[in-house]
Order: sequence, then C-alpha cells, then structure tokens
Amino acid sequence: MTTAIDWAARAGALQPDGRAYIDGERKASASGETYDKRSPIDGRTLGAVARGAAEDVDRAVAAARRAFDDARWAAQPPAARKKVLQRWADKILAAKDELALLETLDMGKPIRYALAVDVPAAARCIAWYGEAVDKIYDEIAPTGPGALALITREAMGVVGAVVPWNYPMIMSAWKLGPALAAGNSVVLKPSEKSPLTAMRLAELAVEAGLPPGVFNVVPGYGGEAGEALALHDDVDAIGFTGSTRVGRRMLEYAGRSNLKRVYNELGGKSAFVVFPDFGDLDRAAQTAAGSMFFNQGESCNAPSRVLVHDSIADDFVARVAAVAPSYAPADPLAESTVMGALVDDGQLRTVLGYIDAGHREGARLAAGGKQVRGETGGYYVEPTVFDGVANGMKIAREEIFGPVMSVIRFKTEEEAVRLANDSPYGLQASVWSDNVNRAHRVARALRAGTVHVNQYDDDDITVPFGGYKQSGNGRDKSLHAFDKYTELKTTWLRIATDPS
Ligand code: NAD
Repeated sequence: MTTAIDWAARAGALQPDGRAYIDGERKASASGETYDKRSPIDGRTLGAVARGAAEDVDRAVAAARRAFDDARWAAQPPAARKKVLQRWADKILAAKDELALLETLDMGKPIRYALAVDVPAAARCIAWYGEAVDKIYDEIAPTGPGALALITREAMGVVGAVVPWNYPMIMSAWKLGPALAAGNSVVLKPSEKSPLTAMRLAELAVEAGLPPGVFNVVPGYGGEAGEALALHDDVDAIGFTGSTRVGRRMLEYAGRSNLKRVYNELGGKSAFVVFPDFGDLDRAAQTAAGSMFFNQGESCNAPSRVLVHDSIADDFVARVAAVAPSYAPADPLAESTVMGALVDDGQLRTVLGYIDAGHREGARLAAGGKQVRGETGGYYVEPTVFDGVANGMKIAREEIFGPVMSVIRFKTEEEAVRLANDSPYGLQASVWSDNVNRAHRVARALRAGTVHVNQYDDDDITVPFGGYKQSGNGRDKSLHAFDKYTELKTTWLRIATDPS
C-alpha cells in the first residue's frame, strides 16, 4: 500500500467530539458527566466522552419515538429512503480517512484494515440495505375467493442497538442498515471503549438527508446507558452484539420491562477442523493463522479451536508456529502493520490470564505467549499458539478474544465432530478435506450458523451471520436481517363473491 498520509501527524491533530447525538444535534450528557477516552495504542487521551445515562436515553428514545410517530422517515417511499441511505454510504466513503483514524485510535486495530475493511464494509452494508428496500414485495395468502389476506411487513418503531468495540462501525451498520431501511428509528449505544465513530456516522446520516431524530447515539457505560436503553418501555426491539454474559442480561431486561424483541449476536469458540486428506496443509495453516490473528484475535468468529488429525498435527503446528511471528504486533498507525493493540488494559490482563491458564493446565506453547511493546504505553500481545490442548481446558472452553489459538488433536471423524460440537457456542466452523463426501457430511454435522469448507474467510453482506446455541439468535446481514426489525401484519378483506 503506498500513500503519503502521515497518520501520526493526523492523530496528533485530532480533536474528537465525544458528545452524544440526539434529535439531530450534538449534546452533552444531561448530568454533564464525561469520561476520558484513552487510546490503547499508546495510552494517549483522545478526549472526553459524554457519560450517557437514563436521562439521556429517555431523551434519545423520545426523539426517536416522535420521529417514528410523525412518520417523517417511515412514510417516505422506499425509493426515497434508498436514496438517503446511498448518499449516506457515499459520505462514509468520502470520510474514510477520518473514520479509519478514529477507529484505529479508539480500539487499536491497524490503520490499513480500518481503511480497507471497516470503512468500506460499513458503507457497503448501509448502501446494500438501501438498495434492497425498494425491491422487496409483500405477500397475498392463498386463502380462497371469499377473502383477501394481505401479509405485509411494517417497521417496528424504536430500535435500540447495543454494540461492541471490536468492529465498531461494522457492527453498528449491521443493525442500522436493515433497521433504518425498514423505516424504524434507532438509538445506538456504542461500546464505552470505542464510541467515537458512532456519533460521526449519525452526523453524516443527517447530512445525507436522514431526518433528525431518526438515528440517535448515546455513548456511555453498559451498566448505565446500555441498561437504561434495554430496560426502556418505549423501545420495541434490541439488536445486541456482544458477550454471551450480557446477552443473558438483555433477555432479562426485556422480561423485566415491555417484552421487547431481543436479538443477540454473541460470542464464539469456533472450530477449524483439518483432516489428513486435505492436500494443501500450508494453505490450511496460513488461513488458520490469518483468521485467528486478524483484528488481534478480537473477532467473534475467530477459529480459536483448531482441531487437527493426529497424523498431520506436528507438521501443521510447525507451519502455524512458523507463520505466527509474521503477525507480530507493531504500530497501528504504520500502514505495514498487520496486528495492532488490544482494546484496553482489562483485555490485556484477560488475555495474559488465559495464556497463564494454558500453561497451568499443561498445554504446550508453540509460539508467542508474551506481552510486547509495553514501552509504548499500549497493550500488545504476541500471536500465540498452544498445542496439545484438551477440549476441556479453560482455553478451549472459554472465549479469549485475543490472539491465542488452541490446537486440539483428534483421531477419527466422529471424534472431530464430537469435539467441534462440544462447546456452548455455535457461531462458525470450518472443515478442511478433499473428500467431497466427508466435507459435506461434516459440514452438515457441525452445529454452527456458518460453516466454511476448505476456506474460512469468505464473507458478504448478502449472506446471513449469526449463531446456534449460546452464540445468539436471529441473523445479521442479508435480507433475513429485516425479520428482526419488522413486524408481520395480516390484513383480512372480505370479498363478496355474489355480484348481487
Ligand atoms: P460486552 O457484552 O461486554 O459489551 C457489548 C455492549 O454491551 C457494549 O456496548 C457494552 O457497553 C454493553 N453492555 C455491557 N454491559 C451491559 C449491561 N449490563 N446492560 C446493557 N448493556 C451492556 O461485549 P464486548 O466486550 O464489547 O464485545 C466482545 C463480545 O462481542 C465477544 O463476546 C464477541 O464474541 C462478541 N461479538 C459477537 C459478534 C457476533 O456477530 N456474534 C460480533 C462481534 C462481537
């Protein structure tokens, strides 16, 4: 990648606005309280962020409700909504340098991926739902001559979106695209660890023609702004992405309030199953490493359990261990960097704690394992590979959300499937085999929302994404995401069949 941009100089000049965005305006929190947002890349203070709480959520939900009730957005023809969403996507792309820099400074990912992945994927998602919305038809049920039964989709009303910090713009876009295209109003609560791009997205949306009040952002802590939003009686649905622990609470909040719909996109411990009949072991090893260490291992679908047949395991581990150092963390603002900083000190301690647990439980360290670049004031961990992991070990059971791969050996296909499915999670999996029968058989047997065969990373907005078991319910992306943010209405019309 060649560019003349001096990202360090731009970062030094940046003064992000951390205020909320409610009813088309920047707003300080009702309490006036803020918190300091520090960058995980070197500990620098990025600025003060509004510490939103119940009163701010009340204001944002009231603005969203007014906007929905007067139909300033929902009643616009689909073709008009489409144009606004497409203009918004164009504005996101036009602001790519600013948004990418904010994302990198906020949560630590390499600037090259913020530019090449996060900004374009968020823009494409918004544009795609805009493009889709005037191509979807409703239904007429085959009820017989005496009646006409119309089955129509209607916007739900006010959607609360609560998102994590690992892909802040993309996770927001996965909620905003379908929810807004369908005509809802949205209140977004970004993670307290990565709030800065969310408010800019909202400003750009209004510049693109989205009526004020339709999309509001309340930054703040999960236990304050997040809880207030999920408990709010005037919120019709929650689109949540985050940990399984908080996903459980989302269901409780709904039970304690208005039984709002809750859609959870949660954690994962995805299995990557390599059989000895797969011919290109190097590609399998490189894909496992690349997918595991991308985004510092902070991906819900990272292949953190790599199941390898005993007969090729030594060879496989040697190849993964050889490639792991090429993902060594470096300065996220340098365009050559492929691994950046973990999101904060807490995440650093969590990841190092799991590495300790791996040692204690008897796994064999094959690569990495140490904190590095501590002198920068940021939070960096080497790409780490454990071999000889048993599926019952803590590092195989729990989501680490850092650059730590566990290699588990198996002897038979039945054992591989049993181990792969022996997890509370079911987000993603992959099977590597040149035997077409085995590939199909195992892909069918794996209990996961997405299964890849002989690859891991293919991804597109056109395909649904979400999990089985404790990885969640409902699906983000694709036309199926409209199911989450629309109600089905049946309207019966009586037709007199006798002309007299
Ligand atoms: P998290 O659950 O700690 O936080 C997610 C969001 O919930 C944040 O905005 C946070 O402020 C808010 N929150 C926290 N406590 C809350 C509470 N008590 N009430 C209401 N809101 C609350 O998750 P995280 O650490 O930000 O993100 C990492 C997790 O997200 C991982 O488990 C990862 O697998 C998951 N994830 C899943 C997907 C997916 O599509 N399935 C995608 C990305 C990340």
